[in-house]
Amino acid sequence: MKLSITIIIIVQEIEKMGQKVRNDWTFEEVKEIYHSPVLELIVRAANVHKEYQATAEVQVCTLLSVKTGGCSEDCAYCPQAARYNTGVEAQKLMGYEEVIDKALIAKNAGSTRFCMGAAWRNVREGRDFDRVIDMVKGVNALGLEVCCTLGMLTEDQALRLKDAGLYAYNHNLDTSDEHYGDIITTRTYSDRLETLDNVEKAGISVCCGGIIGMGESDDDRIKLLFTLATRPQHPESVPVNALVAVEGTPMAGKQKVKIWEMVRMIATARILMPKAMVRLSAGRHDMSIEQQSLCFLAGANSIFTGEKLLTTPNPDFSADKEMFEVLGLKPRESFKEETAMQHA
Ligand code: SF4
Repeated sequence: MKLSITIIIIVQEIEKMGQKVRNDWTFEEVKEIYHSPVLELIVRAANVHKEYQATAEVQVCTLLSVKTGGCSEDCAYCPQAARYNTGVEAQKLMGYEEVIDKALIAKNAGSTRFCMGAAWRNVREGRDFDRVIDMVKGVNALGLEVCCTLGMLTEDQALRLKDAGLYAYNHNLDTSDEHYGDIITTRTYSDRLETLDNVEKAGISVCCGGIIGMGESDDDRIKLLFTLATRPQHPESVPVNALVAVEGTPMAGKQKVKIWEMVRMIATARILMPKAMVRLSAGRHDMSIEQQSLCFLAGANSIFTGEKLLTTPNPDFSADKEMFEVLGLKPRESFKEETAMQHA
């Protein structure tokens, strides 16, 4: 009897070592991982990263704001909300040609994913959406993975985008369900989840993550990761953003996020969602190469490059090229199948 229990325990331990992709994490398990000593956390995340992905490859994405400012929503971190006095001027939707030119510049600089963002509450049928559909077709024809972030979507709109060649849709949960109402009051967490469901039903990859540094607790951060990691399908990309506190928004004056907080979020995301692209997103502008290296070691394998992230500063193409050379990283090819080394 004793021997069979021992065998079961050994088998369980072996299974844990060659970790399967799991969607059944408990909140307590996530909490334990998140709070483990940071160096142990990095080592564990690095091992998971190595097991599932090509660790020397980093996905290079470019984000372009195709419709800036004047947004009716009240996201407390966002300089594009019309109600905050941030100096961001509302602009109309960009023209098709201009977007294609910018996509080509991004491609020539080494980007493989091109993301177009519009400061809309939700997508409305009409001329503007028709133009976005054309943009998706045009960028797709350049051989780039096309991503959009346009606010809430219906299932039909998601299907139209999919038919046009959309590869991924970004829709962040931002924080925990419990903290959400302190950050945004003009929509609910369940609105957010509904759009994610519509995107998934249309067969589009989900890009979904959050922002830290908005006054949330550790439990809120853990809850966000728990929510993402227990969805029936993990997001294909998980952006981890550090708040860029912009003057004029309710978040102005918030303390800068420490590097260890970013590392903790990235490493936990990597362990929970081994096949996801974990994106080191906003806040990278203020990080040294050494600090970014810690994030890559912790399992980050995607960045935004180009001098702006919608409206806030970001390292430009040449700074990132230099960093890639120093660290021996290379850009991940577009449309690359997951390199699930041992779990294909
Ligand atoms: S984050 Fe998006 S939805 Fe929220 S205010 Fe900014 S542009 Fe609008």
